[in-house]
Amino acid sequence: MVSYKELGLVNTREMFAKAVKGGYAIPAFNFNNMEQLQAIIMAAAETKSPVILQVSKGARNYANQTLLRYMAEGAVAYAKELGWEKPEIVLHLDHGDSFELCKSCVDMGFSSVMIDASSLPYEENIALTKKVVDYAHQYDVTVEAELGVLAGVEDEVAAEESHYTKPEEVIDFATRSGCDSLAISIGTSHGAYKFTPEQCTVDPATGRLVPPPLAFDVLHEIEQKLPGFPIVLHGSSSVPQDEVDTINQFGGALKAAVGIPEEQLREASKSAVCKINIDSDSRLAMTAAIRKVFAEKPAEFDPRKYLGPARDNMKKLYIHKIVNVLGSDGKAC
Ligand SMILES: [Zn+2]
Repeated sequence: MVSYKELGLVNTREMFAKAVKGGYAIPAFNFNNMEQLQAIIMAAAETKSPVILQVSKGARNYANQTLLRYMAEGAVAYAKELGWEKPEIVLHLDHGDSFELCKSCVDMGFSSVMIDASSLPYEENIALTKKVVDYAHQYDVTVEAELGVLAGVEDEVAAEESHYTKPEEVIDFATRSGCDSLAISIGTSHGAYKFTPEQCTVDPATGRLVPPPLAFDVLHEIEQKLPGFPIVLHGSSSVPQDEVDTINQFGGALKAAVGIPEEQLREASKSAVCKINIDSDSRLAMTAAIRKVFAEKPAEFDPRKYLGPARDNMKKLYIHKIVNVLGSDGKAC
């Protein structure tokens, strides 16, 4: 049993309370490799933004849960070395799908876990979430739950279609499950293809696809039912067109990738939404930079020569998200 407190990590409780009050959101960035982690920590340290490092089931399979945990421990020391005196870093399990998995993360130093039982019937979702909460709270680890179904694919989590969270269920769910935060479905979805062209309209000026707006009415209704309760948005990449263009220009084939417009995420950040998950945008930034090096310098074979620019590009993206979309800069001095 390792306590996250010994690793210098923090849970989400105070962080979320401040974010809800302050009208901003905490970035939750997924990581599964060193360059991504370096870029996240450099961006957070430079902007003094609290940050959530997320590990998904796919990342655990890819990079090994133990190694990722030690990398997060290293990230705290690295942040201090970068001059961030009191780093506010959370190590979070993204989309935990069983009690056993959540328990193993709590036991090995995660400061926050998500139990995603949203595909189960309502009562079973409450029961499983409560079981995780009862265990995690003994160690002061915070728990995110999910109510409603998001469309799209994120590692092994896949759903054909989304179902908005029902506002009439949230009080009962939050009270009986005891969760610390709640991921809701209001039209975001996982991956870089969030909407089909048929679901979008076309911007006559640019010819680009414009996705349907998020269901802010559902969000506001949920906020009224649970005033001040921390709300989480998954699948909130914006799929930056310049990265998609770079990928396609240098041999990629990303057709009609569409994300959530940043203005809408900015608006959501000002509400009770206090955690916004961004993964695909970082993948796009990394891929764009690597493709560019491969195309322009075909003789290059030192991985540092293409992973370095990839890291720089991801760092730029993370800073942009922190400063211009979530507003979390300067909140962890
Ligand atoms: Zn998710």
